[in-house]
Amino acid sequence: MTIIDGKAVSAALKESVKQRVAELPEKYGRVPHLVVVRVGEDPASVVYVRNKEKACEAVGIKNSTIVLAESTSEEELLNLIMALNSDDTVDGILVQLPLPGHISEAKVIETIAREKDVDGFHPYNVAGLWQKTPHVAPCTPAGIMKLLASIGVDPKGKRAVVIGRSNIVGLPVAKMLLDANATVTMCHTRTVDLPSVTRQAEILVVAAGRAKMVTGDMVAPGAIVIDVGMDRDPETGKLCGDVDFDSVAPIAGAITPVPGGVGPMTIACLMENTLECFLANR
Ligand code: NAD
Repeated sequence: MTIIDGKAVSAALKESVKQRVAELPEKYGRVPHLVVVRVGEDPASVVYVRNKEKACEAVGIKNSTIVLAESTSEEELLNLIMALNSDDTVDGILVQLPLPGHISEAKVIETIAREKDVDGFHPYNVAGLWQKTPHVAPCTPAGIMKLLASIGVDPKGKRAVVIGRSNIVGLPVAKMLLDANATVTMCHTRTVDLPSVTRQAEILVVAAGRAKMVTGDMVAPGAIVIDVGMDRDPETGKLCGDVDFDSVAPIAGAITPVPGGVGPMTIACLMENTLECFLANR
């Protein structure tokens, strides 16, 4: 059984981004610039935004974080985004989600210029993924595909099962697996007899947001198990995944740990997307 080392794979990706960024000032006169906007003080968002700042520092990308009060109106936020859209010194714009309830996340995502949408959430980027036209790929699903590649797993011809159908993880990763020629089954809360489906999986991606919901009896021997979940263990309060690592790891062929699996890849892919947005707009 292989424990897939997301920290090592993400470190290697960040190192390659760093080397490419270092060559940019000579050619273009500056490095890429990522602007992260945080509205309010949601504790998880504070941590995520700080981690993005650290990642930018590590790879040499310029980072600006704009912190707005929880009471900021939707109009004020949309005006800020439009100003950033037309600012030629800004290459990537990321508005940290979730937003306070009075602000429409859909409007915010639509307002970010698609060519600066480093999250890959803009409707045109989503359409590009589904229509196989140029697009910015969403970070977490892209990171999952890189983790599979890192252990030499080619999805072609394999049975892949994805639990979860969210716009940011389940749906796009299912499409990416399909494009990599896997045969993909998607599961959700209405799926009848989930274990009978998951036991068919040669690649099992779990993005349900339910602590330790996938147990050893739901996994086929030798399956590659990708745990996207970032949950709190109800007993210990510690960070855990959607997969019960202790019962699944002895059966799986390979498994991502939580923390240290998919999480670090998301941020490394964000750095890569920022670099690619910079280059695409030269
Ligand atoms: P979401 O709540 O938007 O979607 C969850 C999906 O899982 C839904 O489609 C739902 O139908 C399905 N689901 C829920 N319970 C189920 C059950 N018992 N059986 C079958 N299907 C079930 O969540 P999301 O935004 O996709 O996030 C999923 C998890 O991944 C969360 O724990 C989140 O924190 C984590 N996440 C991690 C990263 C990362 O970088 N590692 C990024 C995004 C999300």
